[in-house]
Amino acid sequence: MQPPSVFAVAQATLNEAGRLGGIDERALEVLQEPKRINSFRLPLKLEDGSFRVFPAHRVHYNDALGPFRDGTRIRPDLTLDEVKALGIFMTIKHACADIPAGGAKGGIQADMAALSPRDREALVRAYIRHLQPKGPWVDVPGADIGTGEQEMSWMLDEYEQITGEHCPAALNDKPFALGGSLGGEAATGRGVFLVLRAAAGERGMGLEGLTAAVQGFGQVGSELAQQLHDAGARVVAVSDVHGGVFRGDGLDIPALRQQARTHGTIGNFPGTEPIDNDSLLAAEVDVLVPAAVHDVIHEGNAGTVRAKLVVEAANGPVTTAGDALLAERGIPVVPDVIANSGGATVCHFERSQGLSDESWDLERVNRSLERRILAAHAAARDTAAETPGASLRHGAWIHALRKVERAMQLRGWI
Ligand code: NAD
Repeated sequence: MQPPSVFAVAQATLNEAGRLGGIDERALEVLQEPKRINSFRLPLKLEDGSFRVFPAHRVHYNDALGPFRDGTRIRPDLTLDEVKALGIFMTIKHACADIPAGGAKGGIQADMAALSPRDREALVRAYIRHLQPKGPWVDVPGADIGTGEQEMSWMLDEYEQITGEHCPAALNDKPFALGGSLGGEAATGRGVFLVLRAAAGERGMGLEGLTAAVQGFGQVGSELAQQLHDAGARVVAVSDVHGGVFRGDGLDIPALRQQARTHGTIGNFPGTEPIDNDSLLAAEVDVLVPAAVHDVIHEGNAGTVRAKLVVEAANGPVTTAGDALLAERGIPVVPDVIANSGGATVCHFERSQGLSDESWDLERVNRSLERRILAAHAAARDTAAETPGASLRHGAWIHALRKVERAMQLRGWI
């Protein structure tokens, strides 16, 4: 049997949280599918003289709480199902963090690594020309897998060339020089660190000497590993798509990050043993952090997890069946919609800075991030505690759904 799609898993969480939290059935009905899906095709004449058409999407999931907002994913196997799932995650994430924004997501099905720099730029600019975003009060695209500061700079420039006016608040995840926020790149990893520290602390585990395994050593996983390392924790295993490295006394994270930057991988690092991704998930550690891709902990391997706590840095890394098995075994899971919301939160600050023509210092960004993300974690925990049968994930979704439900009632939608 085919495993459920990532959007089916998101719908299952929505419906279970809705049932447990007594959410109005009309609100749940609205949230079963996105408000609007814009699917389009980008024709492109490539530099080598060939011609390709790239499928693209922008999903507007729900905007009861504010303008649509969030990332643009570019990868060769991108599906609409995945973009819809990310759209509902963003709706919940913004509501959890008390951000007055709705949830959206977009993307292009393309292999950026196979395109020349000129073709990459042409593709990203074509995306904005075809999408024609309407600015900061309607829909604010940002970055995701396959897009970074350079792609967001091209998108901003294309948008401003079309509209004829400067409006940095129309696009998120820009570099600082074009109106981006300080602390933006580290924000998700830092947010995961803050939530992990709080959740571990509540379970009697301090960071000094705490052991952790991190799957995925990209922007999020490597930043988190660095912050854990700096706080005195022992990060004993990390991995990337090719496999991982293990060292019982703790890995030298700054040196590993340097190797990843210079060689593009972490394998064969001196003084470490190799570890594959399955073994990493089963490592005997205090905290396990999946920070790579979705669906990595499932019915088939949740029984092998030996960590005392799982913190979801990736979006959707634990399937519904995996979640149930972990709950049965008494292993708490801090859900993605809380743990990795640091990036969305600093995007909110980025838009605010753009609208007010101001630039916050790093201390203000980090202080505001910490306050918001810890409040979201506490609200999810308290909601779970007062709702019979609810996990921390349900607590987060119920807390968010109540806000979206109220906004839809006040607007007269339901
Ligand atoms: P990234 O591309 O920088 O890094 C991803 C890492 O995962 C790389 O080390 C890659 O080698 C590894 N990886 C890929 N496939 C793998 C596999 N099958 N098994 C093991 N490792 C694998 O991405 P990122 O920005 O660090 O994002 C990681 C996750 O966090 C994604 O799920 C993303 O949706 C989520 N997330 C990211 C942000 C952000 O701000 N970057 C925000 C919220 C959520």
